[in-house]
Amino acid sequence: MPSSSSSTPPTRSRSAETRAVHAGEGRREVRPAAGAVIHQTAPFVFADSEELDRAFADGGRDGVYSRQGNPTVRAAEEKLAALEGAEDAVAFASGLGAIAGALSSLLASGDRLLASRDLYGGTHAWLAWLCRRHPEVTVETVPLAGLVARLRNRDAPAPRAVLAESPSNPLLACCDLAQLAAASHERGALLLVDNTFATPALQTPLALGADLVLHSATKYLGGHSDVLGGFAAGSAEVLAPVRQAMVLGGACLDPHAAFLLSRGMKTLLLRVERQSANASRLAAFLGGHPRVTAVRYPGADPVARRQMRAGGGMLAFEVAGGLAEATALVDRLELFRIIPSLGGVESGVSLPALTSHRSLSSEERAALGISDGLVRVSVGIEGYEDLEADLAQALSGAIA
Ligand code: PLP
Repeated sequence: MPSSSSSTPPTRSRSAETRAVHAGEGRREVRPAAGAVIHQTAPFVFADSEELDRAFADGGRDGVYSRQGNPTVRAAEEKLAALEGAEDAVAFASGLGAIAGALSSLLASGDRLLASRDLYGGTHAWLAWLCRRHPEVTVETVPLAGLVARLRNRDAPAPRAVLAESPSNPLLACCDLAQLAAASHERGALLLVDNTFATPALQTPLALGADLVLHSATKYLGGHSDVLGGFAAGSAEVLAPVRQAMVLGGACLDPHAAFLLSRGMKTLLLRVERQSANASRLAAFLGGHPRVTAVRYPGADPVARRQMRAGGGMLAFEVAGGLAEATALVDRLELFRIIPSLGGVESGVSLPALTSHRSLSSEERAALGISDGLVRVSVGIEGYEDLEADLAQALSGAIA
């Protein structure tokens, strides 16, 4: 039952100053907790130098200094690995931290990354920075739908790694991940999949052949819009340099954030099931609305339906009239909040033209398939009728 040994607490003979610092701080014998234990500490304390030496010799993962390893962070890594069906996972301070950590550890001088054009705007921004700072690495961008053909073109150079999102942010584009994994492996490339939108509740890319799964845990894994975090998950072999990049680069997850993510992941499947049910009905409602010119929802995509257990909580729709009309529409919403993030229990909308893709011109956005009238919707767990009523009233305002 006891999980650790005790040490002598400071006696009353010591000064008030010393008691203030040390009293109550000794190791205790405790029963296993039903709730999570938050190891809110930077360094750990050692009984003697031999114990410290052994901990360093083991690589510090079980607790020397929390940048290298912390039990609360480890618990979150194990939970995410279990959900993704991965051998192991590495936690990062944010999703972009995970993407940057993974790519910077896997790409060496002379390597080529084949990246989907349909990626989160922040990932594109990091890739542009990488190209500016490290011209010895080549980043080639191809639309998601063209990745397999590009890989099969033997006249084109083989990449070291391929990076894709399916479904993508913000257009919800999907690709056949098993086919993409096979095409990547035929050219000797690793396939990295950002699984933020689908989450392991709906899709496990490693089971489809991907080599590494990346997450913005800030979104569905946390699920309550109150924490930043990221993960990379895969085999111990692929992850070894990724963990090293996290430790050396100092991109570690904070223990309290890890606790929030573990707690969030406990209800991931329940939340995503509800969000998918709400989103699929809203997609049908929007598809039949005269003011809506297009709806993008993975539940309607045959490729996504084959590899995802449900359509997910994200959808996007377009209204005629460009940015002015889209802005007026979201400003009329009462229940959906304007949130430049996604995946929380609350429903939210965001306009890519004003958020993730604001640094591009309208023409550049159009070239990416992102119209100025595009509204991205993160559907929450509220009552469906309330959500439909809110969208209906905001859309009917557009007619006036
Ligand atoms: N990947 C996707 C698909 C995202 O949507 C985001 C953020 O929106 C990120 C990665 C970056 O994650 P974070 O904001 O946690 O750094």
